[in-house]
Amino acid sequence: MHPFSLTKAANTREALNAGRKGGRYIAGGTTLVDLMRETVERPETLVDISDLPLREVSVTERGGLRIGALVSMAESAAHPKVRSLFPVVSEALELSASAQLRNMATIGGNIMQRTRCTYFRDVTADCNKREPGSGCAALHGFNRMHAILGASDVCVATHPSDVAVAFAALEATVHLLGPDGERTVPFADFLLRPGNTPNREQALRKGELITAVEIPALPRPLKSGYLKVRDRQSYEFALTSAAVALHIRSGVIREAKVAAGGVGTVPWKLPAVEKHLVGERPSESLWAAAAERAADGARPLDHNRFKVALLKRTVERQLRIVGGTK
Ligand SMILES: Cc1cc2nc3c(=O)[nH]c(=O)nc-3n(C[C@H](O)[C@H](O)[C@H](O)COP(=O)(O)OP(=O)(O)OC[C@H]3O[C@@H](n4cnc5c(N)ncnc54)[C@H](O)[C@@H]3O)c2cc1C
Ligand code: SF4
Repeated sequence: MHPFSLTKAANTREALNAGRKGGRYIAGGTTLVDLMRETVERPETLVDISDLPLREVSVTERGGLRIGALVSMAESAAHPKVRSLFPVVSEALELSASAQLRNMATIGGNIMQRTRCTYFRDVTADCNKREPGSGCAALHGFNRMHAILGASDVCVATHPSDVAVAFAALEATVHLLGPDGERTVPFADFLLRPGNTPNREQALRKGELITAVEIPALPRPLKSGYLKVRDRQSYEFALTSAAVALHIRSGVIREAKVAAGGVGTVPWKLPAVEKHLVGERPSESLWAAAAERAADGARPLDHNRFKVALLKRTVERQLRIVGGTK
């Protein structure tokens, strides 16, 4: 591990001051410390933000939900309002990591976590994300866990967060506070596809702090849920996953929000699937036909061709679980 200094911010102003000078925020520390141990990350100054007042979950005026950046994964998952309004968020969190990690880890840290690509975490391997211009060992290496959607010629790594898939499906926004004040960024624009700059992963500006994630109000009744397919039943990242929310009234699907995880360089929204569902009546054939569109544009690699069929089946199964069949 490289030497670093650690300061604890007593309030938001102190945190922003330290962030402006290049300090790196640390919340639960469950992923940043790992990366520092592996020398993938080498921050000179860490700014502990765990005392900041960003630990609230609240229902917004319009009936959406705002989750503070420092609310732990465990607290968010268990919160009665999260459970009742957006079970897809609770389920995505409960299927993440382990109970111990979920107690420490925060919502802000979760959406900021970096890829689990093994070459990224091995400092002896070529990796454009870790060291721009060095190459991508995964392209011709073992790429079973990698992306089939949204990849570029320089990086094919997936984004590993589960709850980010739920946020993408629900079209959440990220609230930011920086030296220039507050702003909000749609979740779809917050995590960046690799393009030619895979080292740039989020739309954060220097020194900006995530303060909250806000889920907009959606028409009720709303059924939602998260399905994660992985190599073992716990403590494992997704091969594929699906976040689904459906508003069905008088037997007709009025709104559909669908996104997939484990397959894209960012959580992958599925507008073609959503479009196929809206205005239709739930049926077995509808779920299958809509899910056929889930892998549109997929470009599988040598070891992950199976993800194309698996993704379609994951989406179909989760549509059936959430939407039922009449
Ligand atoms: C063994 C293991 C298994 C895991 N399995 C899963 C899984 O199945 N699914 C899943 O989704 N995740 C999984 N994770 C990842 C885990 O969810 C993350 O480690 C955790 O959410 C990170 O949160 P943290 O608060 O500890 O972040 P930290 O480690 O403190 O920070 C992570 C990053 O976020 C930045 N950051 C943190 N808070 C803010 C903020 N408010 N504003 C700006 N920047 C900020 C930090 O600067 C750092 O770059 C796993 C992790 C481990 C170690
Ligand atoms: S896929 Fe991306 S993160 Fe993995 S080695 Fe290639 S450039 Fe690095």
